[in-house]
Amino acid sequence: MRMHASREEVDAVCARIEDFGYKIHAIEGEERIVIGVVGVGDVTACLESLEAMPGVEKAVRISAPYKFVSREFRSAKTEITVRDVTIGGSEFVVMAGPCSVESERQILESAGIVAKAGAKLLRGGAFKPRTSPYDFQGLEVEGLKLLDRARRETGLGIITEVMSDRDVELVAEYADILQIGARNMQNFALLKTLGKCGRPVLLKRGMSSTVKELLMSAEYVVAHGNPQVMLCERGIRTFETVTRNTCDIAAVAALNELTHLPVILDPSHATGKRSLVPALSRAAVAIGADGLIVEVHPHPEKAMSDGAQSLDPKGFAQMMKDLEPYIALWKEARVAETAAVV
Ligand code: PEP
Ligand code: MN
Repeated sequence: MRMHASREEVDAVCARIEDFGYKIHAIEGEERIVIGVVGVGDVTACLESLEAMPGVEKAVRISAPYKFVSREFRSAKTEITVRDVTIGGSEFVVMAGPCSVESERQILESAGIVAKAGAKLLRGGAFKPRTSPYDFQGLEVEGLKLLDRARRETGLGIITEVMSDRDVELVAEYADILQIGARNMQNFALLKTLGKCGRPVLLKRGMSSTVKELLMSAEYVVAHGNPQVMLCERGIRTFETVTRNTCDIAAVAALNELTHLPVILDPSHATGKRSLVPALSRAAVAIGADGLIVEVHPHPEKAMSDGAQSLDPKGFAQMMKDLEPYIALWKEARVAETAAVV
């Protein structure tokens, strides 16, 4: 719709769309309203009719198979606000914490460490997807309660994984952001449930998934009612064995062209090695990611999962400090980009 189109004009357009037998999936924006419609078959007649209506700026066919998450649908970046932090806006946001919540002491200590170094959200898995059934599976509800404690003590928002559609309601009670793990990127029952969870979602790329498949999975969540989705590159499987996974760093740039959703990089799972995390984090800032999700443990050598890739408190503080000049440049670039889009 044109800037400041009237309520009547919007209603008339919606009514015309319904006359054509199409379903309105989303109405977005305040100043400028964008009406999202999904239809099958030849939509030319509908497009032409809408284009002639008062208040309509243009009617466009979105060619990508992922509609609502595509840049064609929305040119400005989606901003996701969690407590007092906005992801996808003018700040580079760092989420950090241990792979798993292990004990009260461990998570409170971790929270203090990452908050002090400048992280804005605390990560920590309560439900853990482990390759072996004999490995630590997470503290589950008890872990969620400990995360809640850590939030109350530090003010940090919480991001934690949900593995099953059965647990979405429970995890959403405690978490500020629901993390969907790489192994669940195409768990469509779970993705549909997230549409109604009322919380932002961080969707990790499956280890053998393409960028397009990642976008289609994000489309599931948005099409089912939740536009608050951010994407995460965490490395994919290749023949390379020096790193745990192969970070598809170019995917971050590609995603920034293809979608308006924020993009987060996970340098911990992407490399599997603590020593490589700072370098990859710099790359994430330079290439224009919106933030990082990093594993940090008070005593990595004692971690119950992913110790080898977890930074220790000193290492994390040093990395955050070393990122500062890069983040300053990132901010300049972000201001210029935002001005160019609007
Ligand atoms: C994690 O974040 O600890 C995790 C299990 O990540 P991924 O789903 O990317 O393997
Ligand atoms: Mn982990």
